[in-house]
Amino acid sequence: MRKIPQGKDITIEFECQFRVNLQSSDFSSIMKAFLILLPQLLEDFFQKVLVGFGEYEMALEKKSFECKCCGNDTEFIWKTRHGKATRILTWFRWITLKQLQVQCKPCGSKMYITRMLLGMEPRKRVPEETRRKLALMGALTSYRVSEKIGKMFGWAVDKMTIWKSVQQIGAKMDFVLDGNEEPRGEADGTGIGITGIAKRGKELKVLVQYKKGGGIRVAGIDIGNYNGSWEKLFQRSLEVIKGFKQPFLLLTDGDTTIFESLKGKVTILIQRCLWHIPYQAQYVLWKDGAKRKSMEWLYVVAELMEICAIRPLVDCQDTIQAMIASKRARLEKVIGYCKEKEYMHTATYIENARGDMFTAIENRLEGKTTSRVERLFRTVNMRVNVSKWSMEGALNVTKVRLAYYYNGFDA
Ligand SMILES: [Zn+2]
Repeated sequence: MRKIPQGKDITIEFECQFRVNLQSSDFSSIMKAFLILLPQLLEDFFQKVLVGFGEYEMALEKKSFECKCCGNDTEFIWKTRHGKATRILTWFRWITLKQLQVQCKPCGSKMYITRMLLGMEPRKRVPEETRRKLALMGALTSYRVSEKIGKMFGWAVDKMTIWKSVQQIGAKMDFVLDGNEEPRGEADGTGIGITGIAKRGKELKVLVQYKKGGGIRVAGIDIGNYNGSWEKLFQRSLEVIKGFKQPFLLLTDGDTTIFESLKGKVTILIQRCLWHIPYQAQYVLWKDGAKRKSMEWLYVVAELMEICAIRPLVDCQDTIQAMIASKRARLEKVIGYCKEKEYMHTATYIENARGDMFTAIENRLEGKTTSRVERLFRTVNMRVNVSKWSMEGALNVTKVRLAYYYNGFDA
């Protein structure tokens, strides 16, 4: 220590002297004693490294910082190497550092260089790396459990700090389609439980994109009202959609409002999620007053199940055409039947869906017609239902969680 180093590598010689009183040599006593020692050791270590690199900077002709008042970046003198205390959060615990302060020779103004050396923004107390770790932990499990796990391993970090980290990291995350992956994806929404907001009052909307090597990635996410706009989900991706050589094929469970906002802007082929149709039909049948498992109910549901079952691996174009024609004819019959029975919700529902049911197969895009967002929603729901959330809070924790599971976010 204390020597002005030649290169940028700095060797810290660390002689350590501390006093701690132990009454036993058992494992837990040693661990407990070490946790008392740890902050001292960590603080000293940080301080020594910072001073070492501070000295190195001061020995440089041109500094990597400049005076905020006059722009000078060459002439500085030390004000102090152990100045006013400041706290930062490492992932062992909070530590207190004595700030390094220099003075600009030409204009006399003083500045701290501690955070510059740490690669942190001015006045920030939680480094980005610590934030990411806390955010990931808080997104994977409840805040209470996060706090508990931290404490078990000697990281005394409170729920509030974990919550804040999730919010900050989540708020900065953006999801957008990737022009290098498949021009195919799915959009879907699901009701989420937010305390204080009735279940099914709010909807989590997600756009996923298929990856070339298989699997999916998240390309858009929003929480909003049921039947609200899907615009936000796609807005950031419009340019990417335009850049694809083929039209973008989107699988969805139905809501045509998804595309009202996109009409005329980009070409998107829509494929209804066929898996959903018979299930959603049961809901509209109920609205129409059709008795569950009555003859009428069974006819409509069974027909839809058959119409929506697509045989994979049929590669003869004529056969495909004939299959679709047959399915269309059966669908018309079901619609006619519903009208006859005055199941108007059901008739309207099927009429709205029919235009987009066979897009993928007609375009021979071998699009999978069952939803992969379903699975994703199960992943999300596990976390969103467990605590109290504001909408913003729920969105942020979901973003971090999905980024970890699907987009390679790690900490
Ligand atoms: Zn200056």
